[in-house]
Amino acid sequence: MKLIDVLYETVIDLYERAPDKSEIVTSKLIDRFKDTHPEWDFSNVKYKFDKRSERYVDNMICHKKDENGIEHGISNDMKYQDIVHFDRACWKCRRQQAKRLSNKFTDDELRDEAKKYNTKSEFIYGSPNHYDAARKRDKQFYQDITSHMVPAGDKTQKIIYAHEFYDSEGKPYAAYIGLTNNSERRYKEHISGVYGEKKITTQVMKFLNDNPNYSHQYKELTDFVDFQTAVKLEDTWKNKYDKKGWIILNVAKTGSIGAPYRITNEQLKQKVIECGNQGMTYNEFRQKFNNIYSSIVRRKLHLPPYNYLDILSNKKRSYTRDEIMDMAKDYKSIAQIAKENPTLYGRIYLKGLVDDVRKLINDPLKDEKYYLEKIKDYNSVKDLRINNRKLYYVIHSRGLLDKVKKYYKSVS
Ligand SMILES: [Zn+2]
Repeated sequence: MKLIDVLYETVIDLYERAPDKSEIVTSKLIDRFKDTHPEWDFSNVKYKFDKRSERYVDNMICHKKDENGIEHGISNDMKYQDIVHFDRACWKCRRQQAKRLSNKFTDDELRDEAKKYNTKSEFIYGSPNHYDAARKRDKQFYQDITSHMVPAGDKTQKIIYAHEFYDSEGKPYAAYIGLTNNSERRYKEHISGVYGEKKITTQVMKFLNDNPNYSHQYKELTDFVDFQTAVKLEDTWKNKYDKKGWIILNVAKTGSIGAPYRITNEQLKQKVIECGNQGMTYNEFRQKFNNIYSSIVRRKLHLPPYNYLDILSNKKRSYTRDEIMDMAKDYKSIAQIAKENPTLYGRIYLKGLVDDVRKLINDPLKDEKYYLEKIKDYNSVKDLRINNRKLYYVIHSRGLLDKVKKYYKSVS
């Protein structure tokens, strides 16, 4: 690869990442989909960026009509990469696609699959794809094929139970307290670790394995009570056991077992702020609190106007002009920097220090003549831009575009 090509490459790269080159990105999208998805209209799209400079597209319009004859209309928050790589430009088109997937099973296939299971949760864990597809059919069909399943009890009614463990002398030792809407099933799950086709090691199994001489008792501590009461009672019972000196084996937070525990946006925000104040970086946060990170992204709270993640440190240190110049002084040319230290080149470029560095290291700028010679292979700025984008960008970045335009005018 020639040095000048390396330079071109780097320049191109920076341009494509630069947030303000929207029109170039838009024309890319239009080119990409004009044949395959003519119903997608990108002409008015706006871009926004999250903390990691991930590009999102707003205001994309889909002219495709749904079954009621209504156009899909505007889609926002579409990830640019998803659009380009997975053809996901319209939320409604995506949903239609998902619907098509859910139709990949016949009614008989779904019915046969459902017959394998005795409860809905086994069905969910065992055959998630069939379950999803069945749920998306009409309600009557879903009820029909699951009618043989053992009712899981009233979803809102729960019972509190305890697994008690006694030491070899029969003294109380440890307890696991939980809530469930189906005591018998939950007991089996705890003892076997089998949830449908999934198998996990439960706290109860773990304790029994580690302490084979201890005895075990299962108790229902309450009658069925409504969910809110059950959550409170579970806590109360845990405290009772705790105070009496039992070791509490529960790991999960109260109410999280089989309960739709939902963290609020405000709680998510507080967590990020807390971490941000400790100087935690985006990547550290993502690794350490992946579930919180995922919730934020799923709820789109990392995007404007929320920007929850922006408080996290970017860890990208900003270098001063002097520091950059100091790092650049040992190189012989800008092209060498671009080749051997692209990061440094990026800093030089973004700070507008290309000319200063050139002077410092005595790297003569390729004169205008060189470029005015090169462009002679093309007939117009448009021709140049389409057929040699690298050259076009370099000319553009050197401020030579006006001269090039003049040249084309003079020869046309
Ligand atoms: Zn659409």
